[in-house]
Amino acid sequence: KEDGRNAIRFFNPAMQAVVDAHTRMEIGLRAALDNGGFHLLYQPQVDRQGRPAGAEALIRWSGPDGTTISPAEFIPLAEDTGLIVQIGQWVLDTACAQLARWQQSAATRHLSIAVNVSARQFRQADFVSLVRSAIERAGADPSRLKLELTESAILDDLDQSVTRMNQLRKLGIQFALDDFGTGYSSLSYLKRLPFAQLKIDRSFIHDMAEDEGSEAIVIAILSMSHALSLEVVAEGVETPIQREFLRLRGCELFQGYLFGKPLPIEEWQDFLAMV
Ligand code: C2E
Ligand code: MG
Ligand code: MG
Ligand code: MG
Repeated sequence: KEDGRNAIRFFNPAMQAVVDAHTRMEIGLRAALDNGGFHLLYQPQVDRQGRPAGAEALIRWSGPDGTTISPAEFIPLAEDTGLIVQIGQWVLDTACAQLARWQQSAATRHLSIAVNVSARQFRQADFVSLVRSAIERAGADPSRLKLELTESAILDDLDQSVTRMNQLRKLGIQFALDDFGTGYSSLSYLKRLPFAQLKIDRSFIHDMAEDEGSEAIVIAILSMSHALSLEVVAEGVETPIQREFLRLRGCELFQGYLFGKPLPIEEWQDFLAMV
């Protein structure tokens, strides 16, 4: 065992490079908050008839060199540094403003917007009032706002999650449980929490065709969700075969490249005209 030498080993060049990259990224994220370096894409969610029911807002970062950086690359660091709180606030404000714009026109009034909320953001003591003020500032109808939470965000302090979610439910906000199946997935907590929707993680949808285990899990999630009166959203639907399999088993909503990639808001008008 050489554990005692870890402190010395830490500063090898490879690890120093990782630290430097993180520092650069943190500086970049702070700058992006100040100079409008983030934008949202909106991925369609469609109902069983293929009609658009809403969108999930997905953040993108236009990096210093003009490239687009995916949230998978920077959300973890934003969580570690706490920057996620400000980034999450920007996402909420931007999505609520878009929701209010959609609510002004008859053609888009029925659409909902789902916003991803990270664990650290959800655990802020004043999260409920932050969401309330974002909605009020934008003038959005809260019943069309969905907050997507993951198991890691809610299970840490279940009682507090129940309280917080119920307070937001009173405002009309709905909740979706994101990436279901990848985490802890205990069924017992689900009945305590006021979720309207459960989103099957796209890894299961992807593996359904080749892997009987994934197919069985998808079937089990659908029947369990329906027994608990939860709507199911299938993530990552890419083929008509996947869509039909899910439809036959009562899946309510569909999201995936088959229906539309995450789109800049300017492209939504064409998307809505096309379907
Ligand atoms: P998520 O919330 O599970 O979002 C779904 C991800 O699946 C998105 O990746 C979307 O582009 C991708 N996707 C959708 N349909 C398909 C498909 O048919 N095939 C494939 N291969 N992928 C598909 P994206 O936009 O890269 O986001 C990744 C994750 O980053 C999100 O997973 C979410 O956890 C996080 N994220 C995105 N935006 C935000 C945000 O504003 N705040 C927070 N806290 N997290 C965010
Ligand atoms: Mg999501
Ligand atoms: Mg997901
Ligand atoms: Mg995911």
